[in-house]
Amino acid sequence: MNANPGDIREVAIIGSGPAGLTAAIYTARASLEPLVIEGEPSSTGDQPGGQLMLTTEVENFPGFPDGIMGPELMMNCRAQAERFGAVLRTEKVSRVDLSARPFGIWVQNPDADQPTYLAKSIIISTGAKALMLDLENEQRLIGRGVSTCATCDGFFFRDVDIAVVGGGDSAMEEAIFLTKFARSVTIVHRREELRASQIMQDRARANPKIKFLWNTVVTDVLGDSSMTGLVVENVHTGDKSTLDVSGLFVAIGHRPNTDLFKGQLEMKDNGYLITRSPGTQTNVEGVFACGDVQDETYRQAITAAGSGCAAAMDAERWLESQH
Ligand code: NAP
Repeated sequence: MNANPGDIREVAIIGSGPAGLTAAIYTARASLEPLVIEGEPSSTGDQPGGQLMLTTEVENFPGFPDGIMGPELMMNCRAQAERFGAVLRTEKVSRVDLSARPFGIWVQNPDADQPTYLAKSIIISTGAKALMLDLENEQRLIGRGVSTCATCDGFFFRDVDIAVVGGGDSAMEEAIFLTKFARSVTIVHRREELRASQIMQDRARANPKIKFLWNTVVTDVLGDSSMTGLVVENVHTGDKSTLDVSGLFVAIGHRPNTDLFKGQLEMKDNGYLITRSPGTQTNVEGVFACGDVQDETYRQAITAAGSGCAAAMDAERWLESQH
């Protein structure tokens, strides 16, 4: 479907995690009928609803004293946005043109002459995705033992030994969750100090199914049709050995999803979008950014939601100023 030149949206929101959906709720309640291009699931970890769709229990989102499952929280946000008139499309943006207003947004064929959608303002909430170890066999064995999502794949690792790479909160969370299924979980960490918060460290250390392999990196993933083990190396001694595990969960951090905006929006060297403080305005007037795509510090669902609210209010005020 191509954009009808007469059909220019007031606001288009790219991305549908806590930031995008909060922006959708706020702009919808402001009668701006936002178009939310929520993304499509992909093998590289893209996910409508964002990273919370790959999470288990969220215990720190205010308002849920007993916790809530990440996917349920996002489905609730989605329903709330739709209730006020947001239009959600399960599509992936392939190109944007921010050089002239109204802005052009393409889905599917990025080479098409005409954009699929036109919008007076855009809120970018494309989030971040999981980093990988960049090993050849890691890529080859994704879905056949290698995963970045314990919630999605943990079920397939009943009563077997598996490994988690990383020393942050994600690694602890994944490891703890995976003990529901696996016989043992070995956390492979390149240092001997964890980066994770104390409470998550304590939970992991107290779990009898979790072991730690310190000062160690994974140098290869073994297996033909499915994973059979890892080659690991001690970073101090250089000694290599094989770890007999049939699953590897990679939990080493994230990268912002900003490739679409390269050359059009200001971003830091590590790809995070730069916004004008205070506020969510990017270097292009009428384009706002919120959530993990511009936040390398806090990266929490609640801070993403808060910045989604701010972006919606900034967009609304900016549109008002244009009329
Ligand atoms: P992170 O805090 O950046 O931790 C990444 C970990 O992976 C670090 O321990 C790092 O090692 C290791 N690492 C990075 N690159 C590596 C490589 N190439 N090979 C081996 N190891 C590598 O990322 P995160 O755990 O995804 O957490 C991100 C943010 O989300 C944090 O602010 C975290 O608090 C938050 N979070 C919170 C919760 C929760 O509260 N329930 C859950 C998940 C995430 P070094 O330590 O040596 O750098």
